[in-house]
Amino acid sequence: MTSSMTLGRPVEKTVRRRPAALARFGMVLAINGGRYRVRPIPCDRTAASRCFELRKEDETTYHVSQHVHGPECDCPDFIFHRAGIDPAGCKHIKALAAYGMVEPTRN
Ligand SMILES: [Zn+2]
Repeated sequence: MTSSMTLGRPVEKTVRRRPAALARFGMVLAINGGRYRVRPIPCDRTAASRCFELRKEDETTYHVSQHVHGPECDCPDFIFHRAGIDPAGCKHIKALAAYGMVEPTRN
């Protein structure tokens, strides 16, 4: 785990502050048969340019953040099997990248 992963974590205290427009819209992304509610959340802009929260129906929640070196996710698959190993990332990163919401890691 790199130090940038820690820095890229969302700033929880500002999560509740979201633009009024976003309250009227919702996005659901199907990933390998699971359905996730996806929403942009504020993040530490010194570490990440954008952050998303992905919340599964069972309320399991992951965060994907976009960094200069590529996207990161806080799911176990990314942390233990993808970070620094697989440029394509975990299924959450692949799904967001497929819709242009994050930029894949450049080789
Ligand atoms: Zn993930």
